[in-house]
Amino acid sequence: MCLLGQTNGFANEPVQNGRSKMEKRRHQWRFDTLQIHAGLEENPVHGHITLPIYNTASFKFDKLSDMNNALENMSTPTNQYLYSRLSNPTNDGVEKRIAALEDGVNGLVYSSGTASVYAIIVSLAGMGDNVIVSTGLHGGTFKQFRKAGAQLGIEANFCDTNDLERVRQLINDRTKFIFVESLANPKLSVPDYDALIAIAHSPDLRIPLVVDATFTACGYFCQPAHYGADIIVHSASKWIAGHGTTIAGAVVETGRSDWQSNRARFPRLHGEDPDLKKFDVGQDNWYETAGDKAFIRYLKNDVLRDTGSCLSPYASQQLFISLETLSVRCERQAKTTDRIARWLSSHPRVAWVGYLGFEDHPYHHMALKYLQRGFGTVITLGLVGGGEMAEKIIDAFKLIITTTNVGDSKTLCNHHWSGVNKHYSKEENEKMGITEDLIRLSLGLEDVQDIIWDFEQAFDQVQL
Ligand SMILES: *Cc1c(COP(=O)(O)O)cnc(C)c1O
Repeated sequence: MCLLGQTNGFANEPVQNGRSKMEKRRHQWRFDTLQIHAGLEENPVHGHITLPIYNTASFKFDKLSDMNNALENMSTPTNQYLYSRLSNPTNDGVEKRIAALEDGVNGLVYSSGTASVYAIIVSLAGMGDNVIVSTGLHGGTFKQFRKAGAQLGIEANFCDTNDLERVRQLINDRTKFIFVESLANPKLSVPDYDALIAIAHSPDLRIPLVVDATFTACGYFCQPAHYGADIIVHSASKWIAGHGTTIAGAVVETGRSDWQSNRARFPRLHGEDPDLKKFDVGQDNWYETAGDKAFIRYLKNDVLRDTGSCLSPYASQQLFISLETLSVRCERQAKTTDRIARWLSSHPRVAWVGYLGFEDHPYHHMALKYLQRGFGTVITLGLVGGGEMAEKIIDAFKLIITTTNVGDSKTLCNHHWSGVNKHYSKEENEKMGITEDLIRLSLGLEDVQDIIWDFEQAFDQVQL
């Protein structure tokens, strides 16, 4: 296999997971190779060359004492499977692949992106704590932080997280993490990683920077770990699944800082869960046994055990196979996105185009600093005629699909104002970057000329 062709901008960075066999050869496999090989079993029983679906609810043991030992030692890396709510070999495979592509040390899949975000909230924060959350946010995540946070007694402080002064003001001794989206859905804001990391990892704070990296496509357009982000979360339903087949989520820990050693702020990772103390039960010290893999170990063997939001191995295999073409899809989709953005921006029926590749996009300079291989595969646009025209044009499309999804191999559109964001106040919507006329367009793999044709025929159908 020829590996000389450099295919990404971080080839010199070590990839720490999903490639034990490869490590022995002391060669840094690159993104395109990892997406196909990482997570495959090293010694497959039947010589199989893909990831089989291990459709088994539980795993048997020869002796009761062996099973009880495995149960007892969940905080240690025994690699023993017990019950598929906690772990499963198919899920393991895709977890390794996703972790490798995000340059992490450990991964965990979930039944949805939403379930992964929820797991992060409840694993790191509790009653009386607070978190700092970017206003450039997926509407569902906004709701989750606002409502679930309030129900759990966790205060979500929403702010423009690139306003560093504001972030510093909001931090106090009960702050547990900073949450941003790598490209906000659909605002397309880009976090200033260097500055946020400097705050989160300052010696007197040491909290994780959590990045929902859904829109940067599992490390293809940006690898937040490269800049020091600690926890990566994905709605795998989008680019990772890539074909509109599957609802799934994933969490990756990157091992980039020593936040996990911060015992005072994260006592649960150190066997000192304040909520369990009153029951006088033995607790696992995840940090002691797992070090920089403590978070996922805790998430898997404690939090996932309680929330039960595990992914089916069928779904895991879908993600695993789809990831094999991730870079091929993204490369082509990013090219199409660029062409369509340019075509739309010079069209008389189009009022504005929000594309990170354009100099006039407020986050263009951040995109230049932090993105690689293109500016993503989603743009926003407004038409002459505003919100009313947006609704009419969407209904006139023949090829572009109206749906509430992104990152598919098909071109998809949505109008947030009239639907998914309808129940938020004008001010909240403004902060999330939602205007009345905004159309979100997620570019697929169709021929560019056919996408252009669809716009033209829709404009012809609906005159000004
Ligand atoms: C879709 C999405 C989510 C929610 O994920 P589901 O898989 O739909 O539960 C979270 N964050 C972002 C950025 C998303 O696009």
